[in-house]
Amino acid sequence: MSSPDAGRPQTSRLPAWLRRARRGRLRLAVTVLLVLFALLIPPLSGFYEQLNPDVSSKFYIFLGTSALVLALWSVSYNLMLGYTGMVSYAHAAYFGVGAYTVAFLFKRFQLPALEGLVLAPVVAAAVGLVTGLVALRAVRLYFSLLTLAISQLLFSIAFSWCTIGCDNGIHGIQLPDQLSDYTTLYYFVGAVVGIAMLIMFAVVRSPFGAALAAIRENRRRASAIGLNVKAYELTVFTLASLFAGLAGGLFAVFQQEAYPELLYWTNNAQPIVVALLGGTGAFLGPALGAFIYTVLDNAISKQFPYQFDVILGAIVLGVVLLVPGGVWDAPALLGALRARIRGGEDEEQQAESTGEAIRRIDVAKAVKAGAIESDAVPRGETLLRLDGLSKAFGGLQAVQSVSLQVKQGDRHAIIGPNGAGKSTLFDLITGRLKPDSGRVVFDGRDITGKPAHTIARSGIGRAFQITSIFPRLTVRQNLQYAMLANRGDTRRLLGWADRIHREDALELLDAVGLGAYADLPAGQLSHGDQRAIEIAISLALGSKLVLLDEPTAGMSPYETEKAMELVRRLATERGLTLLFCEHDMQVVFGTARTVTVMHLGRILTEGTPDQVRSDPEVQKVYLGVELEEAGA
Ligand code: ADP
Ligand code: MG
Repeated sequence: MSSPDAGRPQTSRLPAWLRRARRGRLRLAVTVLLVLFALLIPPLSGFYEQLNPDVSSKFYIFLGTSALVLALWSVSYNLMLGYTGMVSYAHAAYFGVGAYTVAFLFKRFQLPALEGLVLAPVVAAAVGLVTGLVALRAVRLYFSLLTLAISQLLFSIAFSWCTIGCDNGIHGIQLPDQLSDYTTLYYFVGAVVGIAMLIMFAVVRSPFGAALAAIRENRRRASAIGLNVKAYELTVFTLASLFAGLAGGLFAVFQQEAYPELLYWTNNAQPIVVALLGGTGAFLGPALGAFIYTVLDNAISKQFPYQFDVILGAIVLGVVLLVPGGVWDAPALLGALRARIRGGEDEEQQAESTGEAIRRIDVAKAVKAGAIESDAVPRGETLLRLDGLSKAFGGLQAVQSVSLQVKQGDRHAIIGPNGAGKSTLFDLITGRLKPDSGRVVFDGRDITGKPAHTIARSGIGRAFQITSIFPRLTVRQNLQYAMLANRGDTRRLLGWADRIHREDALELLDAVGLGAYADLPAGQLSHGDQRAIEIAISLALGSKLVLLDEPTAGMSPYETEKAMELVRRLATERGLTLLFCEHDMQVVFGTARTVTVMHLGRILTEGTPDQVRSDPEVQKVYLGVELEEAGA
């Protein structure tokens, strides 16, 4: 029996752009439904009251208002969680600060609630900025713990400060007459929330938002493309506080009160749960979550007042386990399931790179497309000078008074057995580590101990020993965001990041043979291709000096040859200066003009490849080790 679908084309055979368009349409449809639902709550609640006269329509409108406020609060939280990868436990505190601002100004100065509402985000942002400065002294887990401490501190202040009502809080805020009607108040809150959402949406799509995504994906790579990670985190923390303050202000307006429990630490669970429930990967995910949460909250707490937390917890856990992208992603999950049941391919699984890209490198084009400027400085001058650089890890002297000069336009290799200190030396040059003593002078400027992003901006690009790219960003975005960061665009809160430098990025991708993968997540590419992306990022940055830490590790001989050909041609044709370390002696002697040999943290010798090859000391130390390794 033929299935009714027999004549229809399989989804998986659709071209990529069409599949994307379909997904885009789905997202648009959910967004429109959500907005329509929000707009229709007051008329629907009137209709519902007629069906069920026990519950007044006011109650539903009130629930709707609180869902709107929760949506704003959670979307602002997701600026940190979903867009930057920060887990804060202080968001309730900024919400509370906003609510208290409105309440206090009304009580003390009889300032109308609406004027307080204008000040609420300002005060919350100021508190967010100051406390964020403290919390961001630490990273990740320690950052989260510090936010928790800050949250408790702010709660204690609210609880014991009697100017703002001590444990009682402030009640009885009056609204202007125009807003005393529930429906009007609902639409007023909706309008404020809508405008705030539009602003936040613009921010996440802006070049600034691109920097946030880069930080979320890979902090180390983010600073290596010149982003001041902490400054961006502090900015987004402050912005999130600002919108949390606005949400808190709205809360005080429609609830007409503010009380210390708003700031209590357990309250931080709310925006987190709501964001996870709705989906942290989509802008409106948390907003959808807020409406679902409100409905669940109302339904469950009415039926099972005592088991509310358990049931809600189970629902959230179930959603997160089943659909990690939250309810927002459920349609995608259904689509994937349907495709699997029908035996079709999973749409997302299509693209696989095989390391082919590097074979398609068009060197001439790569050289042309690379943003590298040809050298203004005549060759032979020192571009990088290291003076007596030392670094110890506890008792281990990893790098010991290393002095070295890298000449403009040179291809300089550092060789030495494992543990010689090569990667540590690169970390000292690029600012990932601070030297115990010694100096690093680049392009005539002392860059010793400068932060990694400053050094990246000054013109040093780097490929790490373990490939370091932005795995969930597309291949194109990897280069594009590097260009945005390097050209100083990421400080802009306006503009559409994905449209800026797009052509430049695509051209460079074509040139390094990755054009076909432009729209794939970079993490899906083969090892060799990811390596090529990393080198291309340095090209996108237009770095004068490029540090490559074992660039061909893990590549096949053919890939190695192609990659090094690109590297060599770039170096000669554009006056790019290379400093690289490498295990493969063929690569070293085929590419380097100068070779420095390191052993146990010290420089053993330096010279041309021929001099180094015939140095008896080197043969003893370095090649001896190789023979031992081969023997073992
Ligand atoms: P190479 O890159 O030449 O193989 P590394 O610079 O990675 O050598 O390491 C030099 C020495 O420093 C090794 O003995 C290594 O174990 C040690 N080392 C490197 N990084 C650290 C660290 N973060 N903490 C402690 N020891 C380290
Ligand atoms: Mg190393």
